[in-house]
Amino acid sequence: MAIRAFRITVPETREDEVAGLLWELGTQGIEVQRARDGESALLAYFPGEPPLDELRERLAVLSASMEPVPVPEVDWVARFRDSFRGFTVGRFRIAPPWDPPRTLLPDEQLLRIDPGRAFGTGTHESTRLCLREIEASFENGKPRCVLDIGTGTGILATAAALLGAGVVVAVDNDSESLASARHHAHLNGVAVLLVRGNAASALRPGQFDLVLANLTAPLLRTHAGEIIRLLAPCGVLVLSGL
Ligand code: SAH
Repeated sequence: MAIRAFRITVPETREDEVAGLLWELGTQGIEVQRARDGESALLAYFPGEPPLDELRERLAVLSASMEPVPVPEVDWVARFRDSFRGFTVGRFRIAPPWDPPRTLLPDEQLLRIDPGRAFGTGTHESTRLCLREIEASFENGKPRCVLDIGTGTGILATAAALLGAGVVVAVDNDSESLASARHHAHLNGVAVLLVRGNAASALRPGQFDLVLANLTAPLLRTHAGEIIRLLAPCGVLVLSGL
């Protein structure tokens, strides 16, 4: 779907009201731009055509005006990388390679993440939940064999390897994700066995003491049977849905 962009000029005091109106009418993102003193300029992005007449009328009531503008070419990956800072999830200290933490607490585990296009930087709640569960499951002893289904950046597989899992296998059906997972294993100095495949279909059942799958709910439902079969007796299964 074509994205449309509009520049909306509004008295500074009414910026919040106008932003509220834009969200109500379907904007998917607002950027505040430079404007003259006393004014705000909002760049609003719409998927497809917004209700133009209604938008114009309601903006006029708020003394705001709008004009269509070309959609700027934005390198979202570069922008995300610029804003990516280190943070903590349980005992994992996640940090980009260009901003390593100055100190680590004795129990902290550094996990280097170099954000790109693959999913899994640790900012998403579903990834964080899995990281916490990995940490908790290691408290009962280190698993011999770990499997990460839908590895993305490889963050979960790398985390398990860093905590000392015996063998770590990571699966994805997307080659860009596998390249990112390889990069992260290397960046963190651990070994992760990478498999390109559809969910768990390529793997031998009954082998894994810890299986991680942070996928969507429909995918988990579709592959539930084969995922469960992969577990070794008394194995731990960590499921999370995006
Ligand atoms: N494990 C990471 C990434 C989760 S995103 C984290 O927890 O943050 C889900 C990943 O699953 C994506 O990289 C996507 O390419 C992969 N994926 C989606 N469908 C898949 C399938 N059928 N088989 C294998 N991988 C799949």
